Amino acid sequence: MAQLKRRGARAGRIGTSSARQRAGRQARVRKGAKLVYFFGGGRAEGDASMRDLLGGKGANLAEMAGLGLPVPPGFTITTEVCTYFTHHGGKYPPALRGEIERNLARIEAEMGRRFGDPRHPLLVSVRSGARASMPGMMDTVLNLGLNADTVEGLIRESGSPRFGYDCYRRFIQMFGDVVLGLKPESRTEVDPFEELIDRKKATRGVRLDTELTAADLRDLAGEFKQLIKQRLGIDFPEDPMQQLWQAIGAVFRSWENPRAITYRKLNRIPDEWGTAVNVQAMVFGNLGDNCATGVAFTRNPATGEAGLYGEFLANAQGEDVVAGIRTPQEITRAASVQRALESGLSETDRRRCFPSLEESMPQCYADLRRIARQLERHYRDMQDLEFTIERGRLWMLQTRNGKRTAAAAVKIAVDMVRERLIDKRTAVLRVQPGDLEQLLHPQLDRSAKLDVLARGLPASPGAVFGEVVFSADDAVAEVRNGKKVILVRIETSPEDIHGMHVAEGILTARGGMTSHAAVVARGMGKCCVVGCGDLNIDYARQRMQVNDREIRRGDWLTLDGSTGEVIAGTVPTIRPALALEFATFMKWADSFRRLKVRANADTPHDSGVAREFGAEGIGLCRTEHMFFEGDRIDAVREMILATDRAGRERALAKLLPMQKGDFLAILRVMAGLPVTIRLLDPPLHEFLPATDKEISALAQRTGISEGELRKARDGLHEANPMLGHRGCRLAITYPEIYAMQVRAIVEAVCELRADGVKVEPEIMIPLVGHVRELEILRRETLAVVAEVAKRYGVKVRLPVGTMIELPRAALCADEIAREADFFSFGTNDLTQTTFGLSRDDAGRFLPAYVERGIYPVDPFVSLDRRGVGELIRLGVQRGRAARPPLKVGICGEHGGDPDSVMLCHQLGLDYVSCSPFRVPVARLAAAHAALRRDNAAPRED
Ligand code: PEP
Ligand code: MG
Repeated sequence: MAQLKRRGARAGRIGTSSARQRAGRQARVRKGAKLVYFFGGGRAEGDASMRDLLGGKGANLAEMAGLGLPVPPGFTITTEVCTYFTHHGGKYPPALRGEIERNLARIEAEMGRRFGDPRHPLLVSVRSGARASMPGMMDTVLNLGLNADTVEGLIRESGSPRFGYDCYRRFIQMFGDVVLGLKPESRTEVDPFEELIDRKKATRGVRLDTELTAADLRDLAGEFKQLIKQRLGIDFPEDPMQQLWQAIGAVFRSWENPRAITYRKLNRIPDEWGTAVNVQAMVFGNLGDNCATGVAFTRNPATGEAGLYGEFLANAQGEDVVAGIRTPQEITRAASVQRALESGLSETDRRRCFPSLEESMPQCYADLRRIARQLERHYRDMQDLEFTIERGRLWMLQTRNGKRTAAAAVKIAVDMVRERLIDKRTAVLRVQPGDLEQLLHPQLDRSAKLDVLARGLPASPGAVFGEVVFSADDAVAEVRNGKKVILVRIETSPEDIHGMHVAEGILTARGGMTSHAAVVARGMGKCCVVGCGDLNIDYARQRMQVNDREIRRGDWLTLDGSTGEVIAGTVPTIRPALALEFATFMKWADSFRRLKVRANADTPHDSGVAREFGAEGIGLCRTEHMFFEGDRIDAVREMILATDRAGRERALAKLLPMQKGDFLAILRVMAGLPVTIRLLDPPLHEFLPATDKEISALAQRTGISEGELRKARDGLHEANPMLGHRGCRLAITYPEIYAMQVRAIVEAVCELRADGVKVEPEIMIPLVGHVRELEILRRETLAVVAEVAKRYGVKVRLPVGTMIELPRAALCADEIAREADFFSFGTNDLTQTTFGLSRDDAGRFLPAYVERGIYPVDPFVSLDRRGVGELIRLGVQRGRAARPPLKVGICGEHGGDPDSVMLCHQLGLDYVSCSPFRVPVARLAAAHAALRRDNAAPRED
């Protein structure tokens, strides 16, 4: 474990210098640095702590070999070589050749075979392996070392011409695709190699690849080579050493391919990390019925349930399981029985069609279980394993911390504390705050009528609906047009990543729980159903047949990622019930955090939701939303259209009881907790009708002429309304508006108190830029408070604070604090006014700013540390210096963004306030902030 801890410490240093400096430093391989690390035969030169240098896969292969587990021997070429390669126009450090040759000789010695030897040929796999796991993002070549001579040796040794030629044609196919770049020419074109296979099957009159004979496969290998010659004008390389160097170069180059770049961008992986290359002796899962290949998780990655969970394919090679070409079988008997039950198979049929690994290869299953346990205890985290069984012998090809759904992450974290594998601090840090939103996602309302079309495998939970699209590009285009889409594919590949990212959900016809679609969707927290065999997809005609129904592009479809159901049309959704572990986990998180978490809510319903999610108060109750409800908008409009104070007061008198009713309800729901009520903020024209139709309807209801209404609307027109007559400026000109709102609040307080309800409202004045504004409005507010309290014959003391949402307010916070009982940073407006960016219009060009790296992220999503953050820092410092201990919070949308919560913690704020559904996210983010920064001890309740 000491080594594993060191790895964490090293990762923590990333980001201390500029990207350019780092890239420059890494472009030079350190003098005398080792470029290649060997593993195998019970020993290894590397270990799990060397992830930065060996990549995740290489470091873990070394660790497993070092633990004495059965790992085929191999070597890892370091990430430093990749960075060198990228910065030196595809050249290698001079010492690399010798190091590779020496290490290849070590593999040969371990395996008792030679690379390129026609009698006992050594074959290797060449795989990428970056520091952070990037599933399916990079390329792999298997069976490297085969040529016209060595294939004959392989056939002699295996005794199976079919096996030998199958390996050979697979190698040419992968090498042709990954290394030589022979790809389909369009998204709708079938893979040219697959097309040749299909043609061969058609001429031979067979349906399955497995029905092709050795001669067919031999011919196919020849046809593949011809295809390469025709399309690319080159001969397929016969020299194994040349094959190896070309493959290594291709893996290094694949770090720069568009899908790897997209993945890095989405997951904030620095470009300069580079990938390592792993060259490893091949073991074969396709040598007969006592062979298999598979993937397994040490716990269920969808639910977190303890116990080995996974899939395998008998007599199959390499990527077949992950690629989802054949639907795999279950590892455990229990899972196989469950699957048979779901698909109505009898026990006899199950045993015949889907025997589990546990039943068909009991010894290998027992070994796998033992190793899985050992690895989980060693890494103290759920592991994602790849394995191959060659002639009854188990080989481990990979282990890494497994990706999991949020529900699984919470359950695993809680269970592992109970199993004494990790402590509470580690458990809390194991779940990413943003992922919790997934848990709170709505589920299908099962009382609704469901038109279930088909059922696939429930790969990633959630309930979503959208219009069907059949390609990733179409998904992106439709989402740009404001639509919600479900991406439907036969199977997904890394090239679909951009479409998967924007789609509501993903549905595939093929593939298992560990297929590309399943793994990636789970990582993204996206609803996903895979392996839905009833879908008959026709890309060319943009439609699919589902049993006897036809679904076309643009039709609505609903997916349930927890049951695997595919449902026609749209289905209403409801809030999910949370597992018991969730409450325990959140309690632990709460014990570590310092920041309080409140919610932005302006209805009794939302306040109730916020409270259930653990909000410790309301940080922003926007009163304007209440002005739109029911028929009260007419009274609001009457107030706006009034030409004198008396007219306005008449209209406001109609609003008073309604506002009071709102406050009574919200304060009652939030009894015992603070509720910050913000007085009216938006420009008044927002309440007036916009269209001619609305104007004539209003004219009829109020008796005011249409002409007068238009005149009033035009009179309120402003060139820059967000910088105009809004916020506290409204009350400077029309004090009676705030007076009515304050009266409603205080009357509600007095009446609730009389009922014995404990209420803690706070009055907040928006858009203050000058202390005099606050001074005047505070005095007027307190006068109304005193007047109402006197009328009720009680004492009322209400804190009056302000929002800090203008740069001037932040800079003059010392003056403003003298008039404020609290500050709440309105970072939506503060971001808008600091950047000079309209929050309503910037969407048109902000993506280009992020794309071109001008802003690292959208500043309306995640707080800009350098600019807005600096204003917050100054505001807090100056405000508290003038009025200690000033309470300070934040109520912009950033309050629910984990990175922004971290900043708020660092700047010493007292609380963050965010939308009710993000309250748990903010609670966990606040715990992470505390744990990462100052190793806080748990708070005693
Ligand atoms: C803000 O500006 O951050 C804020 C919370 O207020 P609003 O979004 O209502 O302008
Ligand atoms: Mg604001």
